[in-house]
Amino acid sequence: MKYFYVGATPEVDRQALTAIAERARAEFGAPVREIELPELDFAFDAARGQYGSIPMLEMLVRLCPGDAFKVLGLTERDLFIPVLTFVFGHAQLGGRAAVVSLARLRQEFYGLEPNREVFLERAQKEMLHECGHLFGLVHCGDGSCAMSLATGVRQIDFKRAAFCARCAARIERKPKG
Ligand SMILES: [Zn+2]
Ligand SMILES: [Zn+2]
Repeated sequence: MKYFYVGATPEVDRQALTAIAERARAEFGAPVREIELPELDFAFDAARGQYGSIPMLEMLVRLCPGDAFKVLGLTERDLFIPVLTFVFGHAQLGGRAAVVSLARLRQEFYGLEPNREVFLERAQKEMLHECGHLFGLVHCGDGSCAMSLATGVRQIDFKRAAFCARCAARIERKPKG
């Protein structure tokens, strides 16, 4: 049996973790297991005040149990890659590991009133997007598809929490071996 692992760093709300893991199970039809991830201190970049998504991906690949075919890591830390101001998430295309940062999915990040429904909806869309990359999908030109590129929350809010028919048909849901 191969599992889809969904993990979270210690500061992540456990209800959000479970809601996202449940959706991943429903969407990809794979047995999902939750794992605990360590603090991201090792990935902190003091000059930027952010955390590297690449070291987080490397950590996931290292911690990935032998019975994992995919692993998704969630964090509240604001993630970046060197060429971009920030990333909502990062995935190895067709690979094993993906990460999603919840930091910029919260209304309070933008000085607005917290809204849990909006937060969880955005988190599910970003989970689908990064997992889509894990299952080999590239960006989609349909702005309502979960695989469309979002550089801000307005684009995330415009998407549906679903893949368009073309993207959905391309996902390879079943684990190999
Ligand atoms: Zn993407
Ligand atoms: Zn699409």
